[in-house]
Amino acid sequence: MAIERTLTILKPDCVRKNLIGEVTKRIQEAGFNICAMKLVKLTKTEAEGFYAVHKGRPFFEELTTFMSSGACVPMVLEKENAIADFRTLIGATNPADADEGTIRKDFADSVGENIVHGSDSVENGKIESNYFFPEHEIVANAM
Ligand code: ADP
Ligand code: MG
Repeated sequence: MAIERTLTILKPDCVRKNLIGEVTKRIQEAGFNICAMKLVKLTKTEAEGFYAVHKGRPFFEELTTFMSSGACVPMVLEKENAIADFRTLIGATNPADADEGTIRKDFADSVGENIVHGSDSVENGKIESNYFFPEHEIVANAM
């Protein structure tokens, strides 16, 4: 399997619940290497840009208001098969449907406030990573 990169965001609910450490520990224990990370507070416009693919969906306003409601922690993660394995680690979008032991099952309150983002393809992972980090801030072979 190929080494891939994915972009995650520890969302504002994760930060507010003081779960940055707990969730990062799970991510690292699952074998993901952190290649970039920072704490930022998105403006509404920046949140709308990140989630532009969902523009027009009924939850777009709620989603972008939430994502700009407090600090969040974007990270670029690297691992074999990172895209699919990270989706498995976090669980279904709606925590009510998420498998036992997943991050969303254990920590998320609702489909809107579901603790973490994960890219859905290698291509989107790259676009999303560059939304937060210029290439020179993404550390290759960070381990
Ligand atoms: P995922 O984050 O699992 O890839 P999507 O890409 O479908 O999920 O949606 C992006 C984000 O939009 C979700 O993580 C969630 O925060 C929010 N969202 C999705 N569907 C809903 C919904 N029905 N109601 C409220 N928020 C939603
Ligand atoms: Mg998605």
